[in-house]
Amino acid sequence: MRDFTFKTYRKLLVQILESRYEFQTMEEFIMAPKEKVVVLRHDSDIWPKNDLQMALIENQSNVKSTYYFRVPETFNEVIIQKIASMSHEIGYHYEDLVRSKGNIDESINNFKINLERLRNFYPVKTITRHGRPLSKIESLDMWKTEDYKSHGIIAEPYLDVDYSKVLYLTDNGSKWNASSSNIRDYTYNEHFNFNIETTFDLIEAFKKNKLPNHIILNAHPARWNDKLIIWTYRYFLQKAKNVAKSLLKSVRK
Ligand SMILES: [Zn+2]
Repeated sequence: MRDFTFKTYRKLLVQILESRYEFQTMEEFIMAPKEKVVVLRHDSDIWPKNDLQMALIENQSNVKSTYYFRVPETFNEVIIQKIASMSHEIGYHYEDLVRSKGNIDESINNFKINLERLRNFYPVKTITRHGRPLSKIESLDMWKTEDYKSHGIIAEPYLDVDYSKVLYLTDNGSKWNASSSNIRDYTYNEHFNFNIETTFDLIEAFKKNKLPNHIILNAHPARWNDKLIIWTYRYFLQKAKNVAKSLLKSVRK
């Protein structure tokens, strides 16, 4: 059976619910985390149509999640409106410091403008930065001199979540335990000793109740697809990317 299809995703949601976890949006989790909870975080990097498809699947299972949109790359007003209307949270997937080539003032200005565009659809309260592995600039550095809380933001999950207590798994590299292909998406889960590579491993771990009570799953909707031809294309593209990133990482060491 193929992994990273919407069919598999649906199975994952069903199992999480059967294992008696609740779902919270990032905003809710930051404000008042429930005892046993999964936060589904989605970075909308490309193809907002996939975001909509994933949002619908979640909605059919009565699940709320959080979608982070890039501006302008995935800023599709119709889709954002639809996703917000399903009670999902909308956030900003920013990269303003990279775009302004390191100019802090310009990046903050653009950040404000882009945030306002998203706030036409949802009162955005959380943000996540879009990783640019090939750039020497780190967008998180914007917050060394500026406080995002002064922009009505309550959290940037890279900075405001204690990953020694929260299990964080991302589907970067089309596997859940990639570390060599994660340059900016650090693996925080050294504290947890799980070998979860495929979504089927993840479903199994939920089934056996082996996982901690607080979990953030970062699923990039563009990586999930039911169409075999796109799936095959992405599969081989990802393999090539992983090799390139591993090489880059060994050069940087
Ligand atoms: Zn991203």
